Amino acid sequence: NLRILLRARPEGRVGPEHFEVSEAPPPAPRPGEALLRNRFLSLDPYMRGRMSAAKSYSAPVEIGAVMEGQCVAQVEEDPTGRFQRGDWVLGGFGWQRFSAVPAAGLRKLEEDGAPMTTALGVLGMPGTTAWVGTTELARPRPGETFVVSAASGAVGSVAGQIAARMGARVVGIAGGPEKCAFVREELGFGECVDHRGEDFAERLRAACPEGIDAYFENVGGAVQKAVFPLLNDFGRVAFCGMVAEYNDAEPAPGPNLMQLVRKRLSLRGFIVSDHPRAFADWRRIGGGWVRDRSLRYREEVVKGLDKAPEAFMGLLAGKNFGKLVVEVT
Ligand code: NDP
Repeated sequence: NLRILLRARPEGRVGPEHFEVSEAPPPAPRPGEALLRNRFLSLDPYMRGRMSAAKSYSAPVEIGAVMEGQCVAQVEEDPTGRFQRGDWVLGGFGWQRFSAVPAAGLRKLEEDGAPMTTALGVLGMPGTTAWVGTTELARPRPGETFVVSAASGAVGSVAGQIAARMGARVVGIAGGPEKCAFVREELGFGECVDHRGEDFAERLRAACPEGIDAYFENVGGAVQKAVFPLLNDFGRVAFCGMVAEYNDAEPAPGPNLMQLVRKRLSLRGFIVSDHPRAFADWRRIGGGWVRDRSLRYREEVVKGLDKAPEAFMGLLAGKNFGKLVVEVT
């Protein structure tokens, strides 16, 4: 069984030295367990948090343990008889090829026309995150300006499309001309501003002539710094994540949050797992949009579990383009 373990906790940037690739025989299912073969592993920014021991909303991965991650797997054998061989299931089976898990708690994935990988991206945790953050926190109204960072990514791409459906004028922020062209042309956002280009703050201001009413924050850092002065009175910011800061050894000095007071802003952070009902709601609503192709998404599928560490390091540096998934071969 090919497995990727956490070897050491990174202090700053994640490197290959923090992972250990290990081979072991496949696990033997104990009573009540099914043996699964992972087909796709999701790589997500939150994994950076699980690698460090700092206090967070969930416990870190132990040194020497298999890295945590959501997977789409197929049942290899289920002595409990609940599942057929080949049934598709979704769960946190980790960065490994095989796992043995209690069959009773397994979530079956129906073959409903959406590709299996969408359960990890557009219709899974990232898509649901976009749905909650946009509809419950950022709450764009028709005609308002809605800005989303990491706009070509798993969460941002969906958030902007939902905001557009709610009638907002959507401006994306993404890294590089290729991502920006995708956001404008394929996702259909009104504008997309390249945060890696020169005069980013100036160009963002020009793209938002009436200011920003709702901001979906995925990035933090320099992007956040440019967005904040443009926020309008009674604006809403959905604090979803700040991936630009996850590799920082020291927390960056914060923005001047006096603007919260002056502008009577509402800022709310959220964790998608606090909204358990939203997963099924979004799968139903978003699933219809995926099937009729009106919800666009992009996936980057990396072949081979051994490529997972490198792909994950790339995600933290902005190298992935769309929802990053590993095909476990
Ligand atoms: P993405 O698919 O968007 O991949 C990460 C992207 O972040 C990169 O492609 C890059 O896009 C951007 N990025 C990375 N480093 C930097 C940097 N230094 N400066 C600026 N941009 C950077 O990931 P997701 O869509 O899965 O996640 C987006 C955000 O949502 C993350 O902050 C994540 O932690 C958060 N999240 C929060 C959840 C919650 O429940 N609160 C649940 C799920 C995700 P680009 O090159 O365009 O900048």
